[in-house]
Amino acid sequence: MAILRFHALKESITYKPNTFIEKGKRSELFGTNVFNENTMRQYLTKDAFKGVKSAIEEGKKINRNVADQVASSMKDWALSKGVTHYTHWFQPLTGATAEKHDAFFETLEDGGAIEKFGGSQLVQQEPDASSFPSGGIRNTFEARGYTAWDPSSPAFIYETTLCIPTIFVAYTGEALDYKTPLLRALNTIDVAATDVCKYFDKNVKKVTSFMGWEQEYFLVDKNLVACRPDITLTGRTLLGHSSAKGQQLDDHYFGSIPNRALNFMRDLENQCMLLGIPAKTRHNEVAPNQFEIAPIHEEANLAVDHNSLLMDVMGRVASRHNFKVLLHEKPFANINGSGKHNNWSLSTDTGINLLKPGKTPMSNLQFLTFFVNTIKAVYENEELLRASIASASNDHRLGSTEAPPAIISVFIGAQLTKVLEELEGVTKGKLSPEEKTDLKLNVVGKIPDVLLDNTDRNRTSPFAFTGNKFEFRAVGSLENCGNPMTVLNTIVAKQLKEFKKEVDVLVDDKNFKKDEAIFNVLREYIKASKDILFEGNGYSEAWEKEAKKRGLSNNKNTPEALKVKVHKSTINLFEEMGVMSKIEAEARYEVEIESYIKHIQIESRVLGDIARNNIVPTAVKYQNILIDNVKGLKDIFDKEYTNLAKEQLNLIKAISQHIDGINSNVTKMIEERKKANLLTDVTKKAEAYCQNVKPFLEDIRYHCDKLELLVDDELWPLTKYRELLFIR
Ligand code: ADP
Ligand code: MG
Repeated sequence: MAILRFHALKESITYKPNTFIEKGKRSELFGTNVFNENTMRQYLTKDAFKGVKSAIEEGKKINRNVADQVASSMKDWALSKGVTHYTHWFQPLTGATAEKHDAFFETLEDGGAIEKFGGSQLVQQEPDASSFPSGGIRNTFEARGYTAWDPSSPAFIYETTLCIPTIFVAYTGEALDYKTPLLRALNTIDVAATDVCKYFDKNVKKVTSFMGWEQEYFLVDKNLVACRPDITLTGRTLLGHSSAKGQQLDDHYFGSIPNRALNFMRDLENQCMLLGIPAKTRHNEVAPNQFEIAPIHEEANLAVDHNSLLMDVMGRVASRHNFKVLLHEKPFANINGSGKHNNWSLSTDTGINLLKPGKTPMSNLQFLTFFVNTIKAVYENEELLRASIASASNDHRLGSTEAPPAIISVFIGAQLTKVLEELEGVTKGKLSPEEKTDLKLNVVGKIPDVLLDNTDRNRTSPFAFTGNKFEFRAVGSLENCGNPMTVLNTIVAKQLKEFKKEVDVLVDDKNFKKDEAIFNVLREYIKASKDILFEGNGYSEAWEKEAKKRGLSNNKNTPEALKVKVHKSTINLFEEMGVMSKIEAEARYEVEIESYIKHIQIESRVLGDIARNNIVPTAVKYQNILIDNVKGLKDIFDKEYTNLAKEQLNLIKAISQHIDGINSNVTKMIEERKKANLLTDVTKKAEAYCQNVKPFLEDIRYHCDKLELLVDDELWPLTKYRELLFIR
């Protein structure tokens, strides 16, 4: 093994970066491999174009005739670009993307062949996708899954394949993917928010949810990763002593981007341009070899698709630069891990960002309405929002003072805090003309266009208002954004629906003026949801205590966090909002909890193997060298040798102790795994893995890492942190 490490080191040190040559102006490349509106206009008949447009904008069904036309044009377009295959591209509950390619090519009876692609192949496919997690849905109903075209996310060409974004559902209609519930949630927030907008502007017909993600990642030399079975199999290092220099000097963040990484980024961004992913910013992150990419925000469904696509493309592009991209939330101990901020806002079809303070008192009242309702929604559903980002890998990051804690709170900044305080003082019931004028002029009218906290915002908050959007900062880097985006949009939709009901009662039954009613309801909301607001240091222990007093949840691990997903209130919420049925919600819980179990199980097996098969034999080898040395000293020096060999003797003992530490802990860990595996209840099994198996990962690692410091570097089989993090 050590041979492999030194071979890898030599390869990576002598590697010559692959210079990426830009293919042209980005604006000209943008979307060239996307069957977007422009392309459709060129390729589709007027009728077909209208059909697709109304499907995208109003969710109307596409008839067979139009589907046939679209398919035929898509095929012509794709063939003109050298494409050979097509695939329905979807996002099963594994979190990754899935595709099964079919060739356009078909044989004819006369022995000839043609390229074929019809409406039926575009609209629906039945991949034999029986191996994707379904949480029991397909077993129960013995139904297969099928994929169905989502016209709101345009088809695109990746390399030589035409990819058609689709949903993935069971024949009985239950969703088996991330996209289906997301589309339902986006629809429900459109309806709820449009209704509320009508208080302010009767012309609003549609509200769209927008999302802009920021994706953090690590780049590590591919050869160096190849001698790390832990990274290869689990995406993170399960052992490895910290490098003497890590991120202490803060010299990586926003530093000049290393040449090879820059070439990777340029290559990646070019791919993004072709695929219509509006990549905009790139920079070094806090940890060595850690970077970030962020696009311009887009309609949420498209943004989620683009993030999923990006994660896939990143891996392939990295390969060309001899890198492996690590998307795991905590690839290395003791330095920062990676997250994925989800910036979220709502906009009307009249062009108004509902989370941006406006220029007039009325537009600001509209802003405050959406602002306060979002805060209330987060307050009422903080535990569910936490659950939406729960995973074995994100558990490493949340609450370890590099990312938000597992407690959900909302940061709004000093100026808006003051505005809410003033609104809290609004008189109950009808307002005097003086009070109304005062509110309009001095409170609502005075929300500044540019909020000061905008720039100086609290980096420790999981959910921060950042001037014209909320930034959900606790999302894991590896996660499919569909999950948190479904929850966020659903809870805000539900809240807006309640709000509308309450305001209408005041207006219709109590003769309140519209603005009076809104002020009255908002006042109560501000009072009721105050406990979710927090401006202080989210990393501090004091906040943990304070949050507990306020009754906020602090679910530190996934099994704890996921429970709320099957609470009656959650199921009612999803059912009421038409986002998920009880069966779907329960199935998802099952899939996620099983995934947790499997992740810990795999990590535990991998570490057990490495510790016993790589670390212990290496330690024994070195110990034998020491023993030979001691024996030799004894031969030469006779009595004097005990003094001369003192250090060696201590080392021999220390090595034995660590070997014992490894072996006894691996044995105990295997015992615990066996016990956990016997449990049939998935929740109990997950808890057993969390409480009884997982702690051994740390114990075993401790001994391995100590040995790394003791054993001769030349014998050490695994690439070390300093190599993984500083060779670029
Ligand atoms: P920072 O790292 O300081 O948060 P970035 O510029 O890296 O800032 O990220 C800003 C993110 O916010 C981008 O992903 C961008 O797409 C997104 N964004 C900007 N405006 C909006 C908006 N109105 N709605 C949703 N997302 C937005
Ligand atoms: Mg950000």
